[in-house]
Amino acid sequence: MSNYHHVNFLWDDAKAASLDPVGRLIYRSNLLGSDQRITNTGGGNTSAKILENDPLTGQPVEVLWVKGSGGDLRTSTRENFSSLYQEKLLGLQRIYASRDDKGLKSQAEDDMVGMFSHATFNLNPRASSIDTTLHSFLSGKHVDHMHPNAIIAIAASKNREQLTQEIFGGEMAYVPWMRPGFELGLAMQEIANKQPNVKAIMMGQHGFISWDDDEKTCYAHTLDFIEKAANYIEAKYAANGGDATAFGGQKYVSLEPAKRSEIFAKILPWLRGQVSKEKRFIGTVQDDEKILRFVNSQDAARLAELGTSCPDHFLRTKIKPLYVDWNPQNEDAAALKLKLAAGLEAYRKDYSTYYGICKHANSPAQRDPNPTVVLIPGIGMIAWGKDKSESRVTAEFYNCAVEVMRGAEAIDAYVSLPQQEAFDIEYWLLEEAKLQRMPVEKELARQVIIVIGAGSGIGKETAHRLVKEGAQIVCVDMNEAAAQATAREITDKYGVGIGVAGTGLSNCGLAIGLVANITDRASIRKMLDEVAIAYGGFDSICVTAGVFVPSDTSGHIPDDKWALTFSINVTGSYFVADEAFKTWKEQGLRGNLVLTTSANAAVAKKGSVAYDVSKAAGNHLVRELAIELAPLVRVNGVAPATVVQGSALFPRDRVIGSLAKYDIPYTDDEATESLVTKLARFYADRTLTKSPITPADQAEAYFLLVSKRLSKTTGQIVTVDGGLHEAFLR
Ligand SMILES: [Zn+2]
Repeated sequence: MSNYHHVNFLWDDAKAASLDPVGRLIYRSNLLGSDQRITNTGGGNTSAKILENDPLTGQPVEVLWVKGSGGDLRTSTRENFSSLYQEKLLGLQRIYASRDDKGLKSQAEDDMVGMFSHATFNLNPRASSIDTTLHSFLSGKHVDHMHPNAIIAIAASKNREQLTQEIFGGEMAYVPWMRPGFELGLAMQEIANKQPNVKAIMMGQHGFISWDDDEKTCYAHTLDFIEKAANYIEAKYAANGGDATAFGGQKYVSLEPAKRSEIFAKILPWLRGQVSKEKRFIGTVQDDEKILRFVNSQDAARLAELGTSCPDHFLRTKIKPLYVDWNPQNEDAAALKLKLAAGLEAYRKDYSTYYGICKHANSPAQRDPNPTVVLIPGIGMIAWGKDKSESRVTAEFYNCAVEVMRGAEAIDAYVSLPQQEAFDIEYWLLEEAKLQRMPVEKELARQVIIVIGAGSGIGKETAHRLVKEGAQIVCVDMNEAAAQATAREITDKYGVGIGVAGTGLSNCGLAIGLVANITDRASIRKMLDEVAIAYGGFDSICVTAGVFVPSDTSGHIPDDKWALTFSINVTGSYFVADEAFKTWKEQGLRGNLVLTTSANAAVAKKGSVAYDVSKAAGNHLVRELAIELAPLVRVNGVAPATVVQGSALFPRDRVIGSLAKYDIPYTDDEATESLVTKLARFYADRTLTKSPITPADQAEAYFLLVSKRLSKTTGQIVTVDGGLHEAFLR
């Protein structure tokens, strides 16, 4: 086929020719994975059977390179692929055949997965995928197994077998749903042997697999099948009336974008609290045209109840989403909350019933019964995950499910996987083992922390410190560009994760940069609402924003400068606390507020009257707020002193002023860096520990106070001043 409308043919012969055989497999995999219409994030796998020299004998031997467990085709590199002796894998068939307990979903089948490591070629440490046998037992040199929405739409139709025949003629065979494993590999081998003209197999309620001895042809075939499926679906869809009649036609109308954001902001923190009773979740909002068409439709309630089909999809989306029949045209946010509360209760009950009916004697214990996908007419979808990346994957998979249902309903009727089959995937002991192998979650995992003042100095350092512990970080600053620069530094360093979904702000990665002026309540509220849309809510806030306005040359501070100092250093912190507390109460999850005071709060000095008095007020604000916000939120303060390096409070002018004040020699043309070092040294020598104090030293204190390490401490000021005995609190 030369004309593609539903996929892009991207193969570049010159590029392919420049690569070694494994490199070409990776190239093909990245091309396939980069198109959401071809496969979903983390879904599908590719392989190539390549002649390699055996390290023991030096003789050529056929090695199966196949995408291993974990990772994603789009971003795969060599280390995502496992390599196995093809002959040894085929040899497993004899061992399997000799087992008395063999069969679909048997112990013998699962045991074969453990045998894969005995077939490892060249000590490759990548764990093999459960799909390894699919690739090994088909004789094609190159094999692609994909999860395209257009193909799954056929695979999840009531008459999937006839449709496969009708659409693909004799080119694609059909295998009914089987849990992936040894038996599925054997079934495919038999089909390929009996029907030598077949180039692919439709996998009932799952996806498809295709192969060829030439890699470019293999790639082209994969695209051709998807193109053919999509052409068939879109022709029927259009003939049936297209978007206007999709999913039985429209029942509700979407709210305007601003109104949608308003409703999301009103319900998200509360909803996050409701679904985070066992463990906290991070949210992603989707309100593009496709998802709105679905949630607004006549059939949304019925189709949502059926659940998702492809096993990849429902492992994240759970067996089904929670659909709430709220009327966006004549009901308000309060009514929505009531309906969500009732819906959640029913959902949890349903989930426990499903577990109770389907469980086996050796099934793992019931997992969190809360939905991970919530559908609301008029506004869209909310998806949950343990971090931002996972919540975007959840959203992506339900977007896929909607596309699958659209296609299946256009050509036939959508059917989901039988409940027991879904359970046997969700609670599969091999899946459980995979979960157990996951690394222990970091200390601040599942948390959203807002750092106000993150554009520079201590705030920026704190943002970097907290993200290292697994938190999602909202970088807030009056200077929007500076806030976004810090967020970008973080995402550049840690990546934005996987999962292609999320609308607007909610499309973000593990850090986002937002603007706010803390002297303006409306500006703070707007920022907190944006945080709700980006992540679903927040856990802790660190306020590092502050201002130092020096007295004039005569030692006097003008009235407007006095007012500005108090407005930022005292009232600003209070406004943040007061606005955030409204959200914290809605969310109902424990949180932390850390304010920034100063050693100057306790030491009276010449030349900084406004600053010092404002910081003394800051100390008492910490204590008052600790009482007001208890027991939900702990409130503490960090009192830094004389952090010169990297501080926005110490521009060159102030550094020179201080050097002059303390009679420290300097020259006017001296580099700022050198002036700063001189002043930092001078301050260090005044402390008990005789060491310069850095933003990193401060960041450590914010980390301790937002972590559980000081979980019984509230209303306190932690000094990070190198030891200034004049500033000892008493
Ligand atoms: Zn699959």
